[in-house]
Amino acid sequence: MSSMSASRTCTPLISLVVPCYNESAMVGLFHEEVSRQLRSLQGVGYELVFVNDGSRDRTLDHLRELAERDPHVIVIDLARNFGKEAALTAGLFEAVGDVVVPMDADLQDPPELLVEFLAHWRNGYDVVLARRVDRSADGLLKRSTAHWFYRLHSRISDVALPENVGDFRLMDRKVVDALKALPERHRFMKGLFAWVGHRTTVIDYVRSPRAAGTTKFSGWKLWNLALEGITSFSTLPLRVWTYLGALIASVSILYAGFIVIRTLLFGADVPGYASLLTSILLLSGIQLIGIGVVGEYVGRIYTESKQRPLYLIQARYGRGPSSALPQTQDEV
Ligand code: UDP
Ligand code: MG
Repeated sequence: MSSMSASRTCTPLISLVVPCYNESAMVGLFHEEVSRQLRSLQGVGYELVFVNDGSRDRTLDHLRELAERDPHVIVIDLARNFGKEAALTAGLFEAVGDVVVPMDADLQDPPELLVEFLAHWRNGYDVVLARRVDRSADGLLKRSTAHWFYRLHSRISDVALPENVGDFRLMDRKVVDALKALPERHRFMKGLFAWVGHRTTVIDYVRSPRAAGTTKFSGWKLWNLALEGITSFSTLPLRVWTYLGALIASVSILYAGFIVIRTLLFGADVPGYASLLTSILLLSGIQLIGIGVVGEYVGRIYTESKQRPLYLIQARYGRGPSSALPQTQDEV
C-alpha cells in the first residue's frame, strides 16, 4: 500500500477518453476548456484521446485540426457509428495514462472535477466516481425512468450499479487493464465498470446542461441500453418463467380438482366460453413474452459467438510520426 502511494506522488500521465458523435459544435470548446484545466494541474502530464464515432458532420475535420496543432491530442476515427459503449472501449484501448477518465464531449462532465479526482487517486483510491446530485439538466421522464432502471437492476443482478453515476470517473491503470481483459462484446460500460470493483470512492457534483449541440440518445436507444444492462448482468428474466409456469400449473391442477368435484356433485354445465377465451389469451400472451425474453438472450449469445470485433478503426491522427502504432485499419 505504501509503495503504491509513493508511486502516486510522482508525475502521473492522465488520459481523457472522449467519444464524439456529431459534436462539431462542441470539440473546439471542449478542447479549450479541458486544456485550460489540465494545464492548471501542476505536475501532471496529459493526453486527450478523442474517438470519432462515425460522425456525419465536421467533427473529424475539427479533431484533425486539433491533433495538428496540439501534441496532446490523439484522434481515433472509427469506421462507422458503433455507439458510445464501443467508442469508449476503443478509447480505453488507446489510452496509455496512469489514470484514465472517460468524459462526454458536451462539457456535462465538469473538467474542474479532475483536481478532486487526482487528489483521491493520490490518496490510494483506484476508482473515483462522480455522482450527480442534481439531474435537473435531464428531463423528468429521463430521470424517473433512470431511477426505476437502477432499482430494478439492483434487485435482479449481483453487481450494484451506483445510482446517478455515469461513465465520468477516474480509473487507475490496473482497473483499465482489468476492463481491457474482459472478453465480452456486449459492453454495458457502467455495469463493467462496477463489475471490476477495486478501491472506490464517490464525489458529488451538479450536472449542467449540454454546452452546445443536442443529445445523441433517443428514447429507443436508452431502452436498448437498459435491456443491455439487464441482460448483461442478470439471468433472472430467463429463470422467472419456470416459477411463473409452476405457479400457473399448480393453480390449474387445483382448479381441475374443483371442477371434477363440482361436476360430480352438480352435473356438467356448458357455459364458460368467456373464461376459456380469457385464460387462453392470457396464457398465450405470457408464453410469447417468455419466448421473447429467451430470444433477447439467445440473440446476445448469437452475436457473442460470431466473435466480430467491437469496432473498426479506419485511421489514427496525432501521437507524432515516431509512433509505433499502425496507422491502418485494425481491430480489437
Ligand atoms: N456518443 C457517441 N456515440 C453515439 C452516441 C453518443 O460517441 O452513438 C457520445 C456523444 O458524442 C457524447 C457522449 O457520447 O460525447 C454522450 O452523449 P450525449 O451527451 O448525447 O448523451 P446524454 O448526456 O444526453 O445522455
Ligand atoms: Mg450529454
